[in-house]
Amino acid sequence: MSIRDHFRDKRRVVIKIGSSSLVHRETGKLNLPKIEILTREVSDIRNQGRDVVVVSSGAISVGRAALGIGTLHSLKEKQACAAVGQVRLMMIYQKFFAEYGQTTAQILLTKQTMLDEESRTNARNTFEQLFSLGVIPIVNENDTVETYDIRFGDNDRLSAIVTALINADLLILLSDIDGLYSDDPKVNPDAGFISEVEFLDERMKSMAKATAGSAYGTGGMATKLAAAEIASAAGADMVIANAEDFRMIHRVLEGEDLGTVFHAHPHEYQLMDFLERI
Ligand code: GLU
Repeated sequence: MSIRDHFRDKRRVVIKIGSSSLVHRETGKLNLPKIEILTREVSDIRNQGRDVVVVSSGAISVGRAALGIGTLHSLKEKQACAAVGQVRLMMIYQKFFAEYGQTTAQILLTKQTMLDEESRTNARNTFEQLFSLGVIPIVNENDTVETYDIRFGDNDRLSAIVTALINADLLILLSDIDGLYSDDPKVNPDAGFISEVEFLDERMKSMAKATAGSAYGTGGMATKLAAAEIASAAGADMVIANAEDFRMIHRVLEGEDLGTVFHAHPHEYQLMDFLERI
């Protein structure tokens, strides 16, 4: 029996969407039909009776496009863009999710909140309460108040921390890459696709360092593998898949051989250990 055959039984799923999968490459503005398909897919996961969380990037790119800012020069400019973009993003999510009869919530996390035990416990309790009310939480980093020194910086690792915090059993990272290759496919045409990673070893991690992030998001393959390490230790399988067509979400959950799957290897760990490494 393949690991993917168990995906049908996953009870709590975290889906991370990269900025590049939400906006048009040419303008940086929201790709509405794509977001509509995403919300339909996620709504259906909820309708199947599973708990689902969306970790969505895009605040900064959406704010930048709304304000007509080309290149961001300073932290405060970035943070202002995030403040403008986050509400725009939520407005669209809320509209589309409402059309499918779903209630959404916004949870903006900071690394500082996760480091503090009481805040962490409160955040966990809030998630649990929202699940019991049937709500779909939409998470992002609170980019507007973060500092350079203490921040997640990328939503790949943030989504893995959320997975660990709420004991989810599957994390799906969706971006503009198909999954893990043996080398950078943009540079090496002979790079082979890896559809399953049972154990993440040092060789794979060093391979990943060679691949760069996309034009919009902040994470490349290295942050995705760091996410896999956290999710695996926390007892969740993880899939990296291409978000070209969000209809693949239900196909992943049905166990189709899409993207790269990383096996869970739950072990004793402290969330603090991971947080300190970010
Ligand atoms: N939090 C950032 C945003 O919403 C994105 C971080 C990332 O790209 O991973 O713009």
